[in-house]
Amino acid sequence: MIKKKNLVFLGPPGAGKGTISEALLAKEDITHISTGDIFRAEIKAQSELGKMAKDYIDKGQLVPDEVVAGMVGSRLAQDDCDKGFILDGFPRTLPQAEMLSAELEKCGRSLDGVIYFAAADEVLLERLTARVLCKKCGKVYNKIFMPPKNAEVCDDCNGEIYQRSDDSLDTAKDRLKVYHEQTSPLIEYYKKQDLLFDINSVQDKADVLADLLKVIA
Ligand SMILES: [Zn+2]
Repeated sequence: MIKKKNLVFLGPPGAGKGTISEALLAKEDITHISTGDIFRAEIKAQSELGKMAKDYIDKGQLVPDEVVAGMVGSRLAQDDCDKGFILDGFPRTLPQAEMLSAELEKCGRSLDGVIYFAAADEVLLERLTARVLCKKCGKVYNKIFMPPKNAEVCDDCNGEIYQRSDDSLDTAKDRLKVYHEQTSPLIEYYKKQDLLFDINSVQDKADVLADLLKVIA
């Protein structure tokens, strides 16, 4: 059984923290909380916060931090978080982290650890730009794990291989830049509280999980 049960997972896009969450949840009975799931649940339940969130989403606007924090707080107050939780996708910024601290205090919980899944930018860029697909039949390839035999053409239909702009190097660089700008103050914030644990996420999934278990056991 793990000892640190109330966790925040942080990691840049491409670090694979989703995969590791799944692997941990298969072993440990704790609650996974993602902001996406909370949004859907609150909107479905037509709670006050859910209605507010929906208004912003319908207008194509970002849901303000206060609304997200409120929803996270009410989720954390639920009984199934007694056994421990992984909070994934929130906080992403320093103001959000401060709001989270306030929400945790309100429901009488505290964090045991903030896990940072670290990877060098060059590795992340390689992963984030790995997806390519066939123009003709739509078959999806991965340049690292499942490349087409010939980089230019589809194995199945000889169609031209191309990359979506979402997966381009420029987009990936932008995403990482934004991530680092937002997250560095957050990392300092948790370091000062002695809550931050770095995990090297550039290794086999089993080794990442083993390192994580060492930190939280
Ligand atoms: Zn094809």
